[in-house]
Amino acid sequence: MNAADLPIRDELRGRTPYGAPQLDVPIRLNTNENSYPMPAALVADVVAAARAEAAGLNRYPDRDATALRTDLAAYLGHGLTAEHTWAANGSNEVLQQVLQAFGGAGRTALGFTPSYSMHPIIAAGTGTAWLDGMRDGDFTVDAARAVAQVKEHAPDVVFCCSPNNPTGTALGLDVIEAVCDAARGMVVVDEAYVEFARAGTPSALRLLPGRPRLVVTRTMSKAFAMAGLRVGYLAANPAVVQAVQLVRLPYHLSALTQAVARAALRHTAELLSTVDSIKAQRDRIVAALPGLGLTSVPSDANFVLFGRFRDSGAAWQALLERGVLVRDVGLPGWLRVTAGTPSEVDGFLAALAELAGDHRAGGLIAGNNGAGRGADG
Ligand code: PMP
Repeated sequence: MNAADLPIRDELRGRTPYGAPQLDVPIRLNTNENSYPMPAALVADVVAAARAEAAGLNRYPDRDATALRTDLAAYLGHGLTAEHTWAANGSNEVLQQVLQAFGGAGRTALGFTPSYSMHPIIAAGTGTAWLDGMRDGDFTVDAARAVAQVKEHAPDVVFCCSPNNPTGTALGLDVIEAVCDAARGMVVVDEAYVEFARAGTPSALRLLPGRPRLVVTRTMSKAFAMAGLRVGYLAANPAVVQAVQLVRLPYHLSALTQAVARAALRHTAELLSTVDSIKAQRDRIVAALPGLGLTSVPSDANFVLFGRFRDSGAAWQALLERGVLVRDVGLPGWLRVTAGTPSEVDGFLAALAELAGDHRAGGLIAGNNGAGRGADG
């Protein structure tokens, strides 16, 4: 007996749930978390914030999370206010609410593949038909080609992931502007990793004025190092916030979550102080790869897509056997690694060097790495 034997919705039949392995190994670099633990001063403030809420837990929380949204808007800047922001349990829930409001039965969503695997899964969960858009061979998205795809399919929702998971590729604002102009529906820019972007990669927040169908989503799971808290948020025209309020469950964001997120935002500078070091480790990985016979995709995120391997599944396993967990994102020849602490990256590069040594004995690394994606990407 399994789910397919039940009268489950047809579009869910035979699917597998999202599931990055959660394995207890020494070096976990597979889910793009921030490897740095909470600073002690924040731990104390989190405990104090939770304690202050505890006696009032007999009551439902603020349904609209107004104080938290005010703090998130202040962090974002760009003249945004609580009316322009909305928060939920991770940006996954924000994306789900956006699709509940703007997708759904008889509607379509398009994303530029390969991209974040949850976008089509959330589409399926909300009954939204998914359309696989295409990237260029080097994983970039060209404005003209993006516009052509949007015009051809006329989706109700377009996902632009920037920087893109799993490739790390950021989109130029010209691409997002062009997609907004061409789209008849909503345009969601998933900026989960934007704090790690290299200098000169701007946020789509600056495009919000005058574009009521544009939604920018963010998260506290990555740069803010609070993946365990589950807080994601969006910025958009206040009308978008009103729309998602029609589908959100009442009291979806617990009083503890709201209070702890606000405590964390009071430590923004300290939390984001890890970003530069993570970017340095990302760039260190990129720089080390050619010496090992490998290449990577230019990354504006806290991870690197690297390859190419003759058999990426076997390379993933070989790294795991050396205590290093990375991500096999299902792109033949490629694996994705999160930029962790310097010592985690030491361990990752040492394990990779052993694989490269094996390669000389006729192993896992493909011979010609200069050419990018190739036919099987
Ligand atoms: N968007 C992208 C591109 C992601 O990679 C992730 C998490 N891996 C999310 C959204 C969701 O993160 P969360 O729900 O933790 O905010």
